[in-house]
Amino acid sequence: MILTYIFLATLAGGVLSVIAATLLSLTVLARWAPRLVSFSVGVLLAAALLEILPEAAQQLPPYQVGATMLAGIFLFFALEKTALWRHDHVHQDAREAPHPTGLMIVLGDGLHNFVDGVLIAAAFLQDPALGVATTTAVIAHEIPQEVGDFMVLLAAGYSRRRALLLNAVSGSAAVAGGLLGYVVLQGVQGAIPYLLALAAASFIYIAVADLMPAL
Ligand SMILES: [Zn+2]
Repeated sequence: MILTYIFLATLAGGVLSVIAATLLSLTVLARWAPRLVSFSVGVLLAAALLEILPEAAQQLPPYQVGATMLAGIFLFFALEKTALWRHDHVHQDAREAPHPTGLMIVLGDGLHNFVDGVLIAAAFLQDPALGVATTTAVIAHEIPQEVGDFMVLLAAGYSRRRALLLNAVSGSAAVAGGLLGYVVLQGVQGAIPYLLALAAASFIYIAVADLMPAL
């Protein structure tokens, strides 16, 4: 049952959000995209601070929750610096490097989506309601992210069809992460609260370091 939830949630977070993003990019809905970014900030921060962290703090001493979050924030910063992790909506890199490769988008976002999938699995294994809150936060930030990627790919000369396909491939990494997370975390339940603290760090980092400056 939990596995079905995880599968559906990662499918929604990874693949359906790509389709929603494509519709947002190509239709009159495009002018909604900036508002969606504001909405994402609220959803990410509320999920992290009101749902995920309190849940993690019930399983771990507060000091360990804080230490894990601290490590997570530096980890996400380091990943972003190495350009493996991308959540930048302004896409200045598109102007600096006129031909970003589709491969870079697929790898960078694929890795991010994979981790999102693992975090969704951890949240569902902890508590289905927490899984829903986490999935909502993932969908809320993935849609504007995918809109940005779609625009970068189109600007780089990819056809709409190919851009959609590349985004969908990177999105499907979330499903892989969710299924692997489910299998692995069955054996190491003790890791779940640490992953929850990492999820909170990821959401807070994306909201405060990536999305708020863009607003
Ligand atoms: Zn994400």
